[in-house]
Amino acid sequence: MNIIETSDLCKNYGNDVGIKNINLEIKEGEIFGFIGPNGAGKSTFIRTLLGLLHPSSGTAKVLGYNINNKSEEIRKKLGYLPSEVNYYDGMSSRELLEYHSGFYDNVDMKKIRTLSEIFELDLDRKIEELSFGNKKKCAIIQSVIHEPDLLILDEPTSGLDPLMQNRFFELLEEENKKGTTIFFSSHILAEVQRLCNRAAVIRKGEISAVEDILSLLEKQMKKARFVFKEKKELTFISGVQNPTWTNNKLTFDYIGPVKELIQWMNQLELQDAVLEEPDLETIFMNYYQ
Ligand code: ADP
Repeated sequence: MNIIETSDLCKNYGNDVGIKNINLEIKEGEIFGFIGPNGAGKSTFIRTLLGLLHPSSGTAKVLGYNINNKSEEIRKKLGYLPSEVNYYDGMSSRELLEYHSGFYDNVDMKKIRTLSEIFELDLDRKIEELSFGNKKKCAIIQSVIHEPDLLILDEPTSGLDPLMQNRFFELLEEENKKGTTIFFSSHILAEVQRLCNRAAVIRKGEISAVEDILSLLEKQMKKARFVFKEKKELTFISGVQNPTWTNNKLTFDYIGPVKELIQWMNQLELQDAVLEEPDLETIFMNYYQ
């Protein structure tokens, strides 16, 4: 079953494009990454799915419900972590989380305690006294305590230090194992690589690629360094980019079938060769260009 399904979904702000013709299908049980630079349209897409913005055209279903007239049903089964967390200041985290729990039937109060310990959040401090990162922790707990079928996270790691990010990823992996589908927007590619099965790249409001992470890694550019006895005239195969000689050493990038690269290497009488994988950042930059 598709947990999120959109068809030519568009949202304009006056004459400005927020998102344009987004077609995505996210299946039950996936951890799906949504990657794009700031201003690409990630929040617009998410807020449209949640019924917080009305689409300019196109349709979408979340958890089987149409976003235009069933947003209440959707919200009951959904956990949402907004990119910017705003709360009523007068409450403590405990009061806020208990208040939030009142809207659902299935909240396990023990989970609030356990998660506050994991995230080292003092539940009795007033929200106004909390740092941005601590507010975020409260919002993380809020997003999962009712055991949602779908978790939508908008840039969730901003404000968390590396230790807390790690604990947060472990929490997401646990929730996913229990059956929660996760939709995760980010401009940080390493975290998408770590967590997600598939990812879509969004740029200027449009999806420019949807890939599973493994095939993305397989298709990726390789960085090569060949060492020859001495510099020589070569006929490069297609896929070789930016060849640069330094004395008897040749470096270049390669995008293409690895078999062809190895066949070529066989003829070259190499003294030494190193092939390296670039990080996801470099791979996605290929898509951006
Ligand atoms: P992201 O979440 O990827 O950073 P956004 O969805 O916030 O991107 O923004 C996508 C585009 O829509 C940007 O060009 C942004 O300036 C524009 N935009 C977002 N919100 C509004 C708004 N309320 N009014 C007008 N333009 C907006």
